[in-house]
Amino acid sequence: MPDPNCLFCKIAAKAIPATIVYEDEAVVAFKDIAPHAPVHLVLVPRVHFAGLNDLTPELAPLLGRIALVAKDLAAQAGIQASGYRLVVNCGPDSGQSVFHLHVHLLGGAPMGSRLA
Ligand code: 5GP
Ligand code: ZN
Repeated sequence: MPDPNCLFCKIAAKAIPATIVYEDEAVVAFKDIAPHAPVHLVLVPRVHFAGLNDLTPELAPLLGRIALVAKDLAAQAGIQASGYRLVVNCGPDSGQSVFHLHVHLLGGAPMGSRLA
C-alpha cells in the first residue's frame, strides 16, 4: 500500500519526476538526485515499508528481486566487470534519510575497501 507522504512511493507512482531506468510490477529503479558515484541508482520495492527493521518473511523475497534487477542494471551501465556496491541504510547511524526501503547501486569508479 503506498504511503501518500512518502517520497519514494510518489516517485514509483510517477507523481514526482525522477529518471526511472527500470520498472516492473514489484521494483522501480531511478537515478539518485545527488549521486555519490558515476553510477548511482536507487532501487525500491513498490510496496511501502520503512526499512530493514520492518522486513518480514513475506517481504524478504523483494530483496532478492532487487538484487537481480541491480545485477542487470550494473551490466547495462557497463560496470558488471569493474564492480559495484549495494548499500541499504537503516536508521540514524546509517544516515537513512528516506524511510521507504531502498537499495543504492554505486559504481563506475574505485571505492576502495573502506566501508565506512
Ligand atoms: P538514504 O540516505 O535514505 O539511504 O538515501 C536516500 C537517497 O535518496 C539519497 O541518496 C538522496 O540523494 C536520494 N534522494 C532524495 N530525494 C530524492 C529525489 O527527490 N529524487 C531522487 N531521484 N533521489 C532522491
Ligand atoms: Zn513509500
